[in-house]
Amino acid sequence: MNNIGTEHRSNIPTLTAPRHRVDESAELSELRLRVQELLDRIATPERLNEFDESETYDLEMYRDLGRAGLISLGASLDGPGPSHAAQSVVLEELGARPTSIAVSMVVQYMGVQLLHSYGTPEQRKEFLAPLHTGDAKMSFALSEAAGGTDIARAMSTRATLLPDGNYSITGEKRWIGGAMDADYLIVLARTSEIDRSAIDGITMFLVPRSSSGIHTQEIDTMGIRGLAQCDIQLQDVQVPAANVLGQVDRGFRQVLATLNGERLNGAAVALGIARGALDCAVLWAKQRQAFGQPVGSFQALQHSLVDASLKIETARLMLQKATQSADTADSPNETLSAMAKLAASDAATTTTDAGMRVMAGWGFFRGLPMQRYFRDARLYTFAPLTDEMTRNYIGEKHLGLPRSF
Ligand SMILES: Cc1cc2nc3c(=O)[nH]c(=O)nc-3n(C[C@H](O)[C@H](O)[C@H](O)COP(=O)(O)OP(=O)(O)OC[C@H]3O[C@@H](n4cnc5c(N)ncnc54)[C@H](O)[C@@H]3O)c2cc1C
Repeated sequence: MNNIGTEHRSNIPTLTAPRHRVDESAELSELRLRVQELLDRIATPERLNEFDESETYDLEMYRDLGRAGLISLGASLDGPGPSHAAQSVVLEELGARPTSIAVSMVVQYMGVQLLHSYGTPEQRKEFLAPLHTGDAKMSFALSEAAGGTDIARAMSTRATLLPDGNYSITGEKRWIGGAMDADYLIVLARTSEIDRSAIDGITMFLVPRSSSGIHTQEIDTMGIRGLAQCDIQLQDVQVPAANVLGQVDRGFRQVLATLNGERLNGAAVALGIARGALDCAVLWAKQRQAFGQPVGSFQALQHSLVDASLKIETARLMLQKATQSADTADSPNETLSAMAKLAASDAATTTTDAGMRVMAGWGFFRGLPMQRYFRDARLYTFAPLTDEMTRNYIGEKHLGLPRSF
């Protein structure tokens, strides 16, 4: 709130959110408290506002999260990745405060998952170890300008095997979160034309961002402004065969296998955004006066906040159940994960809309966080998969309806 004149400041109720308690295991509760205490120290409202306004990534905060063990979450290099439940607790807390960092952490967790699942021991040592500690940051480069949803068909980035055993990658990626300051990229490129209409023939590559032939450019976006979204041009980028992550031609299938975790993590951030916005709106509703009483006493506003809180609790219950299934079941309930993602994205857009109404003109004010939540909430209506495609999935898998595409 650095840019608010003193004459304005005196009219603004203080917006310090209460500490949230959630009904969950002692272990998760302890983790949540640890994240909350860390954020109390390092994620002050002034700092969050400053990084959003300057559209800068808070690398120091990212490093602090890594040092606090919040990326590895206790996972060892040669074991399975961190639990989904633990990731969702961290992401909800980050989503409620440094949302752009939360979005960047979703990407890091995806990298962690992919490297745990498919990385060779050498790749884990070189790429996963510094990621675990926050000493490295990665970006996941799948989407292209021609289409995110139908990316397998739209993909024009190509990797060609050269006689010396290296691959040469050429193409363009779009909307790649954090690519400007990533240490390495996981790039998906077409390696074979087999099965052009479907998902085979695509390979994952671990590509140091400093590789010759990579050019990144920031895209101007309305939300998640503390994390640069980037275009990446790759021009004859040479990558050793040892940097193929997983199996040649099976990379997209391998990514799809981690999509359940992505849905859960997207849901957790959306839930955090909803919760942060609700806290902010409720504090405002209690303090802001009209007609001699707090505006929160007016039933029209009160009911909208109650409805928002119902959506938040519903989304959290679904998310908890879905993460439990992902962590323990032999065959996780992916339909429930898809439902949790839809419920959370709905909670985020509904709550931020209600918050903007409750705060009226002050909701528009760039010195207060509601407008940021309102902008940021849009992301999880289309990422990592659009709400429409998520509904398609539920229609097909849960209701047994015919596929529409
Ligand atoms: C802030 C931000 C961060 C991002 N981060 C990353 C990242 O780090 N890495 C990365 O690879 N990508 C990233 N993305 C890209 C994101 O994953 C895509 O935007 C998303 O997959 C949707 O693709 P699209 O925007 O091309 O929409 P399109 O595919 O063009 O879809 C347009 C519309 O058509 C609808 N549609 C398409 N097919 C169907 C169908 N069969 N049935 C019903 N509706 C349909 C969609 O639901 C949508 O409403 C990011 C995007 C943004 C804005």
